[in-house]
Amino acid sequence: MIVKAVNSPFEGGELVRCREMERSWVGVVVKTTVAGLVVKEFGSNRRQAVPASRAVPFSKFLERLRRARKLKTVYAEFFGGAVFERMPQQRLRALFRLLRAYGIQFDDWRTGANDYFRMWANRAHLVCRKPTRSASASLPEEVAQWLPKWLIAEERPASSRDPLGLQAGAGKLADGLLPGLTVFTSRVGYFFFLPWVVRYVNALLGISAAERRETINRIERALVLCETLHHGEEGLRHCYHQGQRSKTGLLAQAAATASLPDRILKNQNNTGCYNLYRNALLSCGVWCEDDEAGARGLLPYRLSVRGEQMAQVFDRCEGAQALLRWTAGNTRPRPVGELRGWGRSFCFCDLAKGLKQRVQFLEGFIFAQDDAPNVVIDSAVRRKNLDALAAARLLHLRPSEDNASRRAVIADEEMDADGAETADGSENVGVLLYFYTHRSAPGANSFVPAAVYELLGLAVNGIWKGLLDDVPARGRLGVTDWVVSTAGRSSIPDFWRTPLRAAAAKVRATERMLVGRLSEGEAPVQNGLMLAVKVFSRRENHSVLNELASTELQELLSATFELKPDQTVQETLPVLVWQLLERHRIVSERKCKQQWLQGDGHDVWRTEERETPMALGFHSYRMPQLMSLARDLQLERSDLRRA
Ligand SMILES: [Zn+2]
Repeated sequence: MIVKAVNSPFEGGELVRCREMERSWVGVVVKTTVAGLVVKEFGSNRRQAVPASRAVPFSKFLERLRRARKLKTVYAEFFGGAVFERMPQQRLRALFRLLRAYGIQFDDWRTGANDYFRMWANRAHLVCRKPTRSASASLPEEVAQWLPKWLIAEERPASSRDPLGLQAGAGKLADGLLPGLTVFTSRVGYFFFLPWVVRYVNALLGISAAERRETINRIERALVLCETLHHGEEGLRHCYHQGQRSKTGLLAQAAATASLPDRILKNQNNTGCYNLYRNALLSCGVWCEDDEAGARGLLPYRLSVRGEQMAQVFDRCEGAQALLRWTAGNTRPRPVGELRGWGRSFCFCDLAKGLKQRVQFLEGFIFAQDDAPNVVIDSAVRRKNLDALAAARLLHLRPSEDNASRRAVIADEEMDADGAETADGSENVGVLLYFYTHRSAPGANSFVPAAVYELLGLAVNGIWKGLLDDVPARGRLGVTDWVVSTAGRSSIPDFWRTPLRAAAAKVRATERMLVGRLSEGEAPVQNGLMLAVKVFSRRENHSVLNELASTELQELLSATFELKPDQTVQETLPVLVWQLLERHRIVSERKCKQQWLQGDGHDVWRTEERETPMALGFHSYRMPQLMSLARDLQLERSDLRRA
């Protein structure tokens, strides 16, 4: 039942926060009238008429609040009056149920009265707008059961297709190749923008740490707005920012004037540029950690001399000071033409093109011009690997002038929902396969372990996918029969009948071809087995496999592929299946996620319905992000020599 009066922002069944003289309380809208609302209190079930000016939708309130409050305060607002020093457990559960029912997520491990309790609206929540019973009447059990799981699912990043837990190992190898970079660090502009913002924010007096974070967020939102207006609809994809997805909406809202956006990212404190770039800036020596500042409620970073110079680059942009005044003041809407001009002056596509700026960035990024040991070490590693990429002509230097290739749209499978634009991790695959097949290329040694890890990871994920695809939605799959029928369907039955130690000879396809087939999802079990057999049998991989011996992946596979070389491929598969299932169980438990499949030693069955099939690919090694940084800088080969 939806009851909505004309012009009322409220709807029947909506959660609202009402303000009275001495207290604030939360209730549910029973109906809306011309004069305002009728709101039912949770604690007493009393209905009260509330003028519209005294009520605000609870989700709006949360959005503006943006800080944690004590649990006892929150509780008192919901259930009236009493402020408990010890939370009554049963009523606390009622509060949690209520929040979940209204699509509000919260820190559910915070259960002490004086714990700071954070809440935020779940944007994907489908609101059930009907007047509820009082909170003490609990939700039906089946509803309560599915709600939390469903809420968690919404939070899962796109990288959640990691049923065998191979991501962590890949992440470590990626850190070894390009320390400091992550799947998010694709724009050089942030290396100049952030020190400028942090310097400004830390100089503000008399505000709390949370307010400092919020100030950064506001400035970031203003930056994205100006960039969006500057590029217009045509150019949006050429200049990527955190919050990219909000840009179309920002454009649509702007008329002659535009206001500071309320929101460009879900949970900006986590997904905004400050959080995603802070370690990269540390690794490049733009700033260093400053615990003492942190203890005083400042942001815990101190700019280096270079960071100071980089901040000045932003200082000098037209509109930079005006932008700070705007975000600090009453943020009245500004003329679009003016905001567009500001966006032009600090557009990330051009910001780092001056000689000085490029040198400042490169000194920290690859020339190790710093006193801090972490910067020196990280930068030397980056330079060595950048050199290897350049020598192999894998770095896209000298970008051509057309917009398509200047595009700094970066994404790969790992980026969160707000970041994902196009999935193009092909650079990761291309780079790793190049060094896998060109072992004598300068610097290849650094890349080969990652390549071997990815090939084996793809092989094992392929086998897992093949199994997953064949398990029926309902009912069981007998593993022995499945292995026989999979082998029986093969166009190369010989391969299945051969002992492992000789099986590689039966595989005509190269590793590269097998990667291609697996990425297409073609015969994933057989191609996965072939790829694993190939990688294990190749002599030049042996020392690398030893290097990877401590990884969980290698542990998993060597038990199958190395210990019983006289077993045929067909005999090996069921052993591997049970190992993968056990691995999946452990990984799911560790991540507190539901298992996709379970087995009992004979049969396998589904424990979670999955609508989208599992896709196969390499993990991210931050190559697209590196290429984007190189594009922003218009990096040339000669830059790598300039020490
Ligand atoms: Zn731009």
